[in-house]
Amino acid sequence: MSGTGIGVDIGGTTTVGVLVTPSGEVVGRARAETPARRGAAAVLDTAAGVARRLLDQAGQATVGVGSAGTIDPATGAVRYATDSLPGWAGTRIADELERRLGRPVRVDNDVNAAAIGEAWTGAAAGLTHVLLVAAGTGLGAGLIRDGRLDRGARGAAGALAHLPVPGAERLRCGCGRYGHLEAVASGTGLATAYKLATGETVTGRQVAARAADGDPAAAEVLARAGEALGRALAGLVALLDPQAVVVAGGAAAALLPAATPVYVAELLPAWADVPLLPAQLGDEAVAVGAARLGMEEPTQ
Ligand SMILES: [Zn+2]
Repeated sequence: MSGTGIGVDIGGTTTVGVLVTPSGEVVGRARAETPARRGAAAVLDTAAGVARRLLDQAGQATVGVGSAGTIDPATGAVRYATDSLPGWAGTRIADELERRLGRPVRVDNDVNAAAIGEAWTGAAAGLTHVLLVAAGTGLGAGLIRDGRLDRGARGAAGALAHLPVPGAERLRCGCGRYGHLEAVASGTGLATAYKLATGETVTGRQVAARAADGDPAAAEVLARAGEALGRALAGLVALLDPQAVVVAGGAAAALLPAATPVYVAELLPAWADVPLLPAQLGDEAVAVGAARLGMEEPTQ
């Protein structure tokens, strides 16, 4: 690992780029709206444009990318993607960006990249065993073990969304099945639960805002979601034995107040010192982690 690195986060609405020093300090930024509805080629052109703006500043730099979807880490291609990026499944991100940029590009899933970022310079800086949970529209996790990303057998480890949880039996998960954690503890889950309780259609973000304004139905929905998340995370701590659990994503701030006391109460004594921490890198976590990924030797 040497030199500066560029990291690009290809998200459903925004493409975020950072230029970082070898120690992870962000010294350049670029971003653009992701043209998700215009298809994969337009999304790739936008990502390449963001990277080029940073390359102009850096002169020489490695490039890493974090993208929504399940990514094959060996080929940098998208195995599976939700409809936040239509036509994204099957896209050979690494090949396509290498062609556009004329240099090697490393690609991983966005939540994995966020885990790398937070364990590098964020909430879990310096730790080598970290569980990062991303609670946004959906729910995912990235796992750092022995200082390295644990991707599992097919690059899909950390699919926390599909953990069965009590109380979710009648709720449909993003995967189409019932009873999974994402159906409760995610932006989508908050919106669904609120609609069931009140008949009103609002976003997960609006549920959190209403709870803050004193809406009892919204507060109840948020409390149930936070409890389910806190309980599940305490169980995962027993399985994975991390040094810390970091919660990132747009729904993190709304879920943590209810999740934390349940998490603390559920932890067994052996893990009583494993903190549940809010992420620190904000919406740059994926890009920072992607930059770090791009700096790694291509032998992993
Ligand atoms: Zn599911």
